[in-house]
Amino acid sequence: MQPDADRPVIDLRFELDVDTSTVTGTEKVRFSPDLSTDELVFRLTANQPLSVAAGSSIEVGDVTGDDVADVVYEPAGAAESTQGGLLVVRLRAELQAGQSTEVSIEFELALGTGTFDRFGYDAQTSWWGTGHPLLAWEPGQGWLRDPLVDTLGETATSPAAETTMSVVAPAGRTVLMTGGAVQVSDDGQRTRWESSSPAARDVSVAVGDFMMAEGSVGDTRLIVGAPDEDPGQLLDRTSAALAAMEGYFGEFPFDTLSIARLGDYGGGIEYPGMILLADGGDVTLTHEIAHMWFYGMVGGNQALDPWLDESFATYAESLITGRPGEPDPALEDGLDVGLPIGEFSSANAYFDTVYGKGSVMLNVARMEAGPPQFDAALRCYLNANAWQIAAPADVETALGELPAALAVLREAGAL
Ligand SMILES: [Zn+2]
Repeated sequence: MQPDADRPVIDLRFELDVDTSTVTGTEKVRFSPDLSTDELVFRLTANQPLSVAAGSSIEVGDVTGDDVADVVYEPAGAAESTQGGLLVVRLRAELQAGQSTEVSIEFELALGTGTFDRFGYDAQTSWWGTGHPLLAWEPGQGWLRDPLVDTLGETATSPAAETTMSVVAPAGRTVLMTGGAVQVSDDGQRTRWESSSPAARDVSVAVGDFMMAEGSVGDTRLIVGAPDEDPGQLLDRTSAALAAMEGYFGEFPFDTLSIARLGDYGGGIEYPGMILLADGGDVTLTHEIAHMWFYGMVGGNQALDPWLDESFATYAESLITGRPGEPDPALEDGLDVGLPIGEFSSANAYFDTVYGKGSVMLNVARMEAGPPQFDAALRCYLNANAWQIAAPADVETALGELPAALAVLREAGAL
């Protein structure tokens, strides 16, 4: 399935200061809603309390456009020291479905001390993901105002957009980003890099002192940057995991996959066509590659239905890495896999349920339905929902002819 012809068109310009922790940016958005609206809503993810505690934040400056009336901010769970968690751009008049408007947003992003987060810097690398005001529109639904959460999980939902990016970085550093990165100029002080992506629902950037390796799997170009280890071995492991995953889920959804190996902060963070990798293990690498299908290509409401990306990515990872091996006899116990992220009382409860129980649930459903039938149904789900934002009902539809699998998902509280 092709991306929506009326999807947003977004141009992002980032410039990393020589201090390596300040990013000035401009975002230009052309937006054409499928439902009438008199505002545009953007998430200011860097203002979530945990990120602000580490020194990160985003501050919006001028917002301009022929249709812009004024701008307000909503707290939405953001740290109190910030403008807020949502930027609301009010329009002079109602924008009807199919009409379009253009808005330009200036902003400054502060990167905090390196930690396991979407934003950070250390001696080797500066990185940011969801570093720009993120357009919070769900086609067919409207604006999503889910509060920022004070955990590592994400609560953003954003449409796949036609995206161009440029990054200006201090000379001597290499840029990796969503869409690949081509260096287009170097004046001795600063270098400029560009990329384009036909359908990206978010982006990330890493600017570092990287050793680079490049390769390909089929038509997919792989770009790997690592500060202090052999990037060739990371490239080889990426190629193997990606090829294995294509065997289950079909062709890799993006033209390029860039991987920036950060320090060992633990874990990885997925972005369309780009992974911020802060862990040296194969399990994390494989999990993040799986997110290119489950999140990158088929989006979900990450606040309402976190299992649609995390249970499936953990399940996909387990198919490749062989973990977990045995079905859990306690699948009917514990919390419902389908709970919204805000209903878990702790990070452990969230991980145990959505990642742990959710992936076991899908493994058991696959065995109950028959692996070839289940794999074929999942491919139908991916194809039918490509570049859209899926809901649990879409999984139900795809598994409609596999009642044994549906029974497992219902038992585990996913449906
Ligand atoms: Zn994940």
